[in-house]
Amino acid sequence: MSGSILALDSLSAGAPNLVQEILNRSESLAYIAAALLFILALASLSKQKSAMRGNVFGIIGMAAALIIVIVATTVEGDQMPLATLGFILVAVLIGAAIGVWKALRVQMTAMPELVALLHSFVGAAAVLVGINSFLATPGDGTYEGAFHMGEVGLAVFIGAVTLTGSIIANLKLSARISGKPLMLPGRNLLNLLMLVVCLVCIGWFVATQGVDQGFVPLAILTVVSLILGAHLVLAIGGGDMPVVISMLNSYSGWAAAMAGFTLGNDLLIITGALVGSSGAYLSYIMCQGMNRSFISVILGGFGSDGGSSSSSSSQDLGDLTHTEVTPEEVAERLKQAKTVVISPGYGMAVAQAQFPVAELTRKLIERGVDVKFAIHPVAGRMPGHMNVLLAEAKVPYDHVYEMDEVNDDFDQVDVVLVIGANDTVNPSAETDENSPIAGMPVMRVWDANNVIVSKRSIGNAGYAGVENPLFYNENTDMLLGDAKDSVEAIIHAL
Ligand code: NDP
Repeated sequence: MSGSILALDSLSAGAPNLVQEILNRSESLAYIAAALLFILALASLSKQKSAMRGNVFGIIGMAAALIIVIVATTVEGDQMPLATLGFILVAVLIGAAIGVWKALRVQMTAMPELVALLHSFVGAAAVLVGINSFLATPGDGTYEGAFHMGEVGLAVFIGAVTLTGSIIANLKLSARISGKPLMLPGRNLLNLLMLVVCLVCIGWFVATQGVDQGFVPLAILTVVSLILGAHLVLAIGGGDMPVVISMLNSYSGWAAAMAGFTLGNDLLIITGALVGSSGAYLSYIMCQGMNRSFISVILGGFGSDGGSSSSSSSQDLGDLTHTEVTPEEVAERLKQAKTVVISPGYGMAVAQAQFPVAELTRKLIERGVDVKFAIHPVAGRMPGHMNVLLAEAKVPYDHVYEMDEVNDDFDQVDVVLVIGANDTVNPSAETDENSPIAGMPVMRVWDANNVIVSKRSIGNAGYAGVENPLFYNENTDMLLGDAKDSVEAIIHAL
């Protein structure tokens, strides 16, 4: 009798363990599945053809991750599972509602600002998770405790830098503050000093015990990191913002990974590391594309010495004259041409001219003209901006080329149509070593037989604020007016 009571006891004691074991294993499996889906998403996003599939992988992975985290938090939480579930669902609903509302309203041209703002949320989350983790489990004098405090310190540091850096990037991109680099005297020394203060505070924080002792170094660390993030991005000139965006993307990944360490959440660590490393690699590629030093970007403020500023211009082109063409003349030249290259830029996005441009392309291809699109790596306002617009307008992928694939062949092109691009086709990057965009690779459209530039005015500069001598070349003609109207007029004339 006493034996069977013992057996019953052990079974009932084992049941919660079994449930816990099943939950732990399903959690691990779901995390692995979600991590694989994220890797597949990244791999698929690298090609235009598979990008849609990549998005679907990402959505499924994120949904799976959310569900398993919510279930695990609710079941494992030590108190009131239903209330926990309620809080999480309310937070998810509010976040999702704001996200859907923003995504539906945002213009394609305002995407980079939105992306920068989203990075700031990741930074804010890492800071809040870190502070919360410290309040719940402050240092206790053990090695494990010190390790945990180190994780918290790093999460708060990277998160705070990402938070203010991304807010400044958002304000610059939306032109709510000037794109000009802020040139404080001794700014590199200032950055270095702030970095040293942060590292010292992390060391101090690691050695503390209890909330009272840890509070002061954590508070100093948070404030100095916030200032450091803002200062790093304030010092970067407008034309160099593409690299900053992808760098902040990388920072936000590392901030998420650190938050994953403090929460003990493996999936967050994997996802954060994926975002962090892919963002860093993208920044590296963009640095190469813009001929900038990777290290100086990571350290911030590289726009100062030779980088771009939104209002400077190294050349005075006021005395030069330009020639203009009508859409009818352009149509006539396109009819005669055997090879045409279209070089789109930010202005095409603003004018939403990608749809008539796609129609013009179809008409020219029907006439037997060889039409190629030449895409500069930083054309538009975010990486891949032009590719997305052209895909949206259903321009066939095999007509879309990267800059490097066509840049040496412009001398064999009859007509180049530059549609709303400016900095990316500015020859002064190659010819004027004092130009703020000196050294940035540009599309050598001027080598073509005839260049037609569609923009609204001759005077307005591009994003980097630099005048463009291309407009005054003998073989260049300006087609002034809104890009969409101009291209529609060309189609009409064709
Ligand atoms: P630019 O910003 O250099 O030039 C755009 C041109 O479009 C302007 O000269 C403008 O002239 C013209 N434009 C504006 N609206 C219209 C319209 N409705 N119709 C016709 N033309 C129009 O563009 P690019 O794409 O050549 O260069 C991108 C720049 O943005 C680079 O400096 C890059 O560094 C920067 N950048 C890129 C990012 C990225 O990740 N890709 C991120 C942040 C910045 P006008 O006003 O006379 O019409």
